[in-house]
Amino acid sequence: MRLAVLSDIHANSVALDAVIASFDRVDAVWHLGDVVGYGPDPNGVIDRLQAIGASGVQGNHDAAAIGGAEIDWFNPVARTAMIWTRDEIDDASRAWLAELPVRRETADMTLVHGSPRDPTWEYVTSVEIARDNFAIIETTHALHGHTHRPIAYVERDGAVRPLTPDDGFTVSLDTGRAMLNPGSVGQPRDGSPEASYLVLDTGTRTCTWHRVPYDIGRVQAAMRTAGLPRSLVDRLTVGA
Ligand code: ZN
Repeated sequence: MRLAVLSDIHANSVALDAVIASFDRVDAVWHLGDVVGYGPDPNGVIDRLQAIGASGVQGNHDAAAIGGAEIDWFNPVARTAMIWTRDEIDDASRAWLAELPVRRETADMTLVHGSPRDPTWEYVTSVEIARDNFAIIETTHALHGHTHRPIAYVERDGAVRPLTPDDGFTVSLDTGRAMLNPGSVGQPRDGSPEASYLVLDTGTRTCTWHRVPYDIGRVQAAMRTAGLPRSLVDRLTVGA
C-alpha cells in the first residue's frame, strides 16, 4: 500500500492539484492539517480532499477557521487572512473541519499537526524537541507538519539524527523510529517554492519525499483578487 501524506495545504488548490497529478500508484491520502488559512481557495481544497477520500488531523489554522481562540495567537498577517477565511468557508467546509481530530493513530503511526505532545501548537524544530516527543509516542513512528519544512528525525539506540530530504530522498522505516515531516504543499518555507509531500510504502517499508512545481502565478493572482495580504502572496515565489 502506498500512502501519500500531505500537510499545510493552506487553501492552495493550484498546488494541491499539481501534487495529486504527480501521484504514482497512490492508494490513499492522509493530511496533517492546516488545510485552510493563508490561501485563496479553502472550499476548493476541502472539496478535493473529500473527493479523494483523504483522512487526517486538525491544524491550528483549521481550528481558528471554525471559530477557535487559536486566532488570538496569530501574527497580524495570519490573522487578516484568517478573518477572510472565516468569512469565505461555507457550512459544509466548516462541518468537515470541525470533525477532524487533533490526533490519529494507526498500528505503527501517530498523525498530528504540530507534535505528539502538543498536536496543535508545538513546532518540532530541533533534535531536543524531537527526542522529548519520541519519549511519549506510543506508536513506532509519527507524522507531523506545522513547520512547513520537510525533515526526518530518526532515533536509534537513544540517538536522534535529523535528515533533510531533497526530492526523491528515501528513508527506511526499519532504520529506527522516525518522526517524518512531509513539508508543505501550499506554502513551503525551506527555500524551495515547490510543493512538498511524502509517500509511505508499507510494502517496501520506506518513506520518500517529493517536490512538485506548480503555477505559482495563478494562485498569487487569486490571492490578489481576494485581497489577501501582500506578504503572503510574495512569499510563495521564494518558498520562505
Ligand atoms: Zn501551517
